[in-house]
Amino acid sequence: MSEILYESTRGGEQNITASQAILTGLAKDGGLYVPMTMPSLPDGFFEEMKNRPYQDIAYEILHLFLSDYTDEELRECVNLAYDKKFDVPEIVPVTKVGENTYFLELFHGATIAFKDMALSILPHLLTRAAKKNQVQEDVVILTATSGDTGKAAMAGFADVPGTRIIVFYPKGGVSLVQERQMITQTGDNTAVVAIHGNFDNAQTGVKKMFEDADLKKRLKEAGYVFSSANSINIGRLVPQVAYYVYGYTRLLAQGVLTDGELMDVVVPTGNFGNILAAHYAKLIGTPIGKLVCASNKNKVLFDFFQTGTYDKNREFYLTSSPSMDILISSNLERLIFEITGNDAARTSELMSQLKSGGKYDITESMRAQLADFESGFANEEQVMATIGETFNREHYLMDTHTAVAATVSAAYEKRRDQDRPILLASTASPFKFAKSVMSAVDQKYADEDDFKLLDQMCELTGKGRPAAMQNIENAPIRHNRECDVEGMEQTVCEILGL
Ligand SMILES: *Cc1c(COP(=O)(O)O)cnc(C)c1O
Repeated sequence: MSEILYESTRGGEQNITASQAILTGLAKDGGLYVPMTMPSLPDGFFEEMKNRPYQDIAYEILHLFLSDYTDEELRECVNLAYDKKFDVPEIVPVTKVGENTYFLELFHGATIAFKDMALSILPHLLTRAAKKNQVQEDVVILTATSGDTGKAAMAGFADVPGTRIIVFYPKGGVSLVQERQMITQTGDNTAVVAIHGNFDNAQTGVKKMFEDADLKKRLKEAGYVFSSANSINIGRLVPQVAYYVYGYTRLLAQGVLTDGELMDVVVPTGNFGNILAAHYAKLIGTPIGKLVCASNKNKVLFDFFQTGTYDKNREFYLTSSPSMDILISSNLERLIFEITGNDAARTSELMSQLKSGGKYDITESMRAQLADFESGFANEEQVMATIGETFNREHYLMDTHTAVAATVSAAYEKRRDQDRPILLASTASPFKFAKSVMSAVDQKYADEDDFKLLDQMCELTGKGRPAAMQNIENAPIRHNRECDVEGMEQTVCEILGL
């Protein structure tokens, strides 16, 4: 098998090994690493793999993309990641909800949201990458979170030797339960900071620190190097490809499909990482028809797919699906690079237009290459109606992010002209967004205490609290830092003692 090497979408770096790309996170020129050649699944893959456990599929996908890791290293990483931290042995159950839709339940890990899928393996990929590349310094993970990434990253990195992690979240921009999950995080190497700004401010601030050569030098002198656990790291993207491949094997095994028949995939989208992973799954040979990008009221991606113009100059809304409240979808850059025909100069130009004027247009020939993508959006009323109606009809309770996808999926199903099975990425447990979810079922829950609602949800569904929610109201608070957007760098220096 030939080695897969990576390059920056902005042209500054080529022939980077997978482990180097994982270690660096963001390329030095501000671009994102992409594979220089796309691997492909071997012939007969699905027939052979259709009854295999999740870990085997994950290993095969990592093996395709991360070719400078040894087989043994990858096996170790997979086994350390996808273990008892997940509350079901299948790791990713596929549940039929309604006629022709299959929920790919990505929320059974340590923090009950889909980011666990990648963040439970990233620390292991990263520490092995450091060893392979003779890195002596401690790796400092710097992360901006819209709610779920931060906790999932800390859960993954807590007390992993040779690592520190600092998480920034928008004060008031995450749910009460999400905030409590973060500020009670244990581990001597973890730090959490609330910023006075929104998620995009946090993400921009983090990006700025990565690009700051002076800061990098100061860190190095103190024995640290930065890396990123944000969804721009290919060490997050690649493990996400695995569950779409696995989802297809489950539909095969259940007899929903025969080998080679297409499924459509619907993904609730924010930073464009999850749906990009589905696109990569298709590129390596998974039989996928359409990729449906579902947005909430912050529908910058919907407008992009409809018009060919990406324009972040618009009102920003806080919604009941906070992990999708994003106006700059970082991972889209990888798709832009692809549809320019891997033209780094062109991609850089568009990204600098985005940075300076907040918008860019793509050409007709670029748009023509987006034919696999469909898009839709759901407003708040529709999200609530979908949760309530689905619960009443199917006795299946979904979270608000998943409900954005389910709303968009239902509309897509009506307008499409075939009836492929739909694999719907179900990205969080309803327990994580109990207030919105319970209010959608019955308005009487709207004024209830967030933590009491967890018990009421147990009664309603007949399920116990997930491990991640046990004792959440009584866990000691360990983090109380706050700062302004301008003070992020100073705060990092304080935390690291620079
Ligand atoms: C992060 C997140 C999303 C959005 O995924 P992207 O990869 O950023 O597009 C959707 N739902 C939940 C619950 C999330 O945590």
